[in-house]
Amino acid sequence: MSAKDYLEKDYYSILGVSKDVDDATLKKKYRKLARELHPDTNKEKNAEEKFKEVSEAYDVLSDPKKRAEYDQIRTYGASAGGFGGFDPRNMGNTQGFNINLDDVLGGFNLGDLFGGNNRRQRSRRGSDLETEVTISFNDCLEGTTLPITLRGETTCSVCKGTGAKPGTTPKKCASCNGTGQTMRNAGGFGFADTCSTCYGSGRIVEQKDPNCKGTGIVNETRTITARIPAGIKNSSKLRLKGKGEPGERGGEAGDLIVHVFVKNDEIFERDQDNVRITIPVRYDEAVFGSQIAIPVPTGTTVTLKIPANTQNGRIFRVKNEGMPKATGGKGDLLVKVEVVVPQNIQGKAKELLEEYAKEVTHDNPRAEIIALNARRKR
Ligand SMILES: [Zn+2]
Ligand SMILES: [Zn+2]
Repeated sequence: MSAKDYLEKDYYSILGVSKDVDDATLKKKYRKLARELHPDTNKEKNAEEKFKEVSEAYDVLSDPKKRAEYDQIRTYGASAGGFGGFDPRNMGNTQGFNINLDDVLGGFNLGDLFGGNNRRQRSRRGSDLETEVTISFNDCLEGTTLPITLRGETTCSVCKGTGAKPGTTPKKCASCNGTGQTMRNAGGFGFADTCSTCYGSGRIVEQKDPNCKGTGIVNETRTITARIPAGIKNSSKLRLKGKGEPGERGGEAGDLIVHVFVKNDEIFERDQDNVRITIPVRYDEAVFGSQIAIPVPTGTTVTLKIPANTQNGRIFRVKNEGMPKATGGKGDLLVKVEVVVPQNIQGKAKELLEEYAKEVTHDNPRAEIIALNARRKR
């Protein structure tokens, strides 16, 4: 601190207080600014510079003797007596002022305030992991059990993540007294640094676990078994509790989220809990009615009774032959009939159909829509 600084800098306005500010207000104002500007939390470009300025101002104004000198110099100039044998050779030393961290933080734990060392000691829940599987329509119908292979970092099972050789325990780091952080005093400001002895863990492992080389973490492939419930819908997400990344320091494991896709089937189409199928029927089957065997998802057939005069496209419902429901029971099989035309009619069938055609020439199936359309044209 120098008389030059005293002359040039308005510490009152830097702290945003009036000249007659009392100690309590001054302290309160300073703490607020220091928290806002502390370089550990404020990443703005000028934050550190401002923080220093504010701290310097507080250093002077909070000390009654320095404050009196400052007020004198600001009022009467550098020649004023109060500065106590001011020597220009001392100028430029702005590193000397001292901040009482307790003043800044008012008894708060630095780690609490700036998100530092306390968080390190807290347990952390493991992250959720995501993976995807594709199952067949059949597996969906019955439900299935799938092995899911996951590769990644997990807690070393030999040392339970401590990194210490089995039978030994890590020691508290002496450099940081187990906090994982050391305080550095730079230009009179306290900065929390990660302890360089223990790299922030707060512990020193003397005998490393050979399994994880002392890291407490291993990279491994693990296979877990996922039970896929019957009737699961395409693109649904299954959450397997506790099958994700392991937690840290006793935190619970994350979940494994399995994105399940269900493949389409060649003949059946999924429709929520129901299953749809299109069944070809002959013209005569539709006209006279018939009993036909139709496939069902279980791989067998059931008999469907088609009544006489069934129109093309009609849908029949076969109860309980659909997908299993989450609530129990099953959906239905919805059977759509599609009247098919012979590809290559020949012989007797052809003769008889020609005969038939002669009988129905006057029967125009388009008469109705032509009549409807004619009403449009006036
Ligand atoms: Zn280990
Ligand atoms: Zn340490």
